[in-house]
Order: sequence, then structure tokens, then C-alpha cells
Amino acid sequence: MSIFDFAAGTDPAMGGSAAMCSRKACRSEASWQLLWNNPKIHAPERRKIWLACGDHRDWLEDYLQTRGLWKETVPLEDGRVPGALEQDS
Ligand SMILES: [Zn+2]
Repeated sequence: MSIFDFAAGTDPAMGGSAAMCSRKACRSEASWQLLWNNPKIHAPERRKIWLACGDHRDWLEDYLQTRGLWKETVPLEDGRVPGALEQDS
């Protein structure tokens, strides 16, 4: 099972303007960004981003922390994803 199986709805082509929670099947507006890095496949300075609603922030954070991937959780301002940040793909 891939870690990416748990992420959905972050395709920029499908997202529209509102940032959606990355939890699979969740359609809530995201209010948190979870920054993570997989040292096995990513450069150390690279950050992948999952978006989370209030209900799933803890779930996603725990998922990443369990695997040693979690780096930081920061508030998602104004419900928009900063354009310079990379989304899951
Ligand atoms: Zn959610």
C-alpha cells in the first residue's frame, strides 16, 4: 500500500478555488497544512504538503508521525494554498 492511497482531492485541476482536506473521501475545506518529507525519496529540504480539515488534522498528523515523515503543521490562511508551495501529485 502506498502512502498516496490516503491522499485525494489535491489535484489542482479539480480543486477549484477552495483548498480541500487531503483525507480520502473528505470534502471539507482545509484549514491546516501538514508539511512532510520522505527521506527515502525526497531531498531533505523538500516539503510535500497535505491539507487537512479540523476533523482530520490529528489523523493525518499521526499517520505521518508514525512513519517518521511529519515535519510541521501550519494554519492554512484564508483557505487558499500559497502558489509557491508544492501539492501532492
Ligand atoms: Zn477532512
